[in-house]
Amino acid sequence: MVKALYLEDSYLKECDAQVTSVKDERYVTLDQTIFYPGGGGQPCDTGIIKKGEEVYNVLSVKKSEGDILHEVDRAGLKPGDKVHCIIDWERRYRLMRSHTAAHVFASLLCRETGALITGNQLGLERIRFDFNLKEFNRELLRRYIEKANEILKKDIPVRWYEVPREEALKIPGVIRMAKALPPKLPKLRLVEIVGVDIEADGGTHVRNLREVGQLKMLKAENKGKNNRRVYFSLIP
Ligand SMILES: [Zn+2]
Repeated sequence: MVKALYLEDSYLKECDAQVTSVKDERYVTLDQTIFYPGGGGQPCDTGIIKKGEEVYNVLSVKKSEGDILHEVDRAGLKPGDKVHCIIDWERRYRLMRSHTAAHVFASLLCRETGALITGNQLGLERIRFDFNLKEFNRELLRRYIEKANEILKKDIPVRWYEVPREEALKIPGVIRMAKALPPKLPKLRLVEIVGVDIEADGGTHVRNLREVGQLKMLKAENKGKNNRRVYFSLIP
């Protein structure tokens, strides 16, 4: 079973690891990894795996049957190889900032309107949110971005930890996705923006809201019955 180091420390940029299996020459599993496999709207990490002086580019990473598959650009890695992993930190850090920002925005929107999130994608250029809300009101969405920006100026810590499932599910708003069922695990991982929001989440986040910076709204779209979409981005 792979040890997912990013769940405990999202700031790890490098780690040592050992190859545990290789499928079709280019799909590699490791005993531990810092590569985020994607999920919850957050894209996977990219980066490199080094074996001595040999460099393998990690093109994509995904979860598969309880393990994490690293897709590398060429054959050569073998089970038992000792390797060194380095993630593309610029990409990851931007996605961490986006992910934490998305939680702040969603907590405001969902708490005050009762909407649930029906989809979201954290891109490097923009963040997309779909939610079910009766009224389509561009100005209202703009105001939520402004409110989020006020909160993002504050020195507010972000923490993540596991709690027993039963206990987690008692927290109001802990599941914000309209169709998401929490994973059937005895413990759920929570991401807490202290005093702002607690959500069940497996993604990577910054440690303090001040790291996020500010947001700007790009556009809002009416996607039909009860379905609204908003795009915003980090500045810069
Ligand atoms: Zn999340």
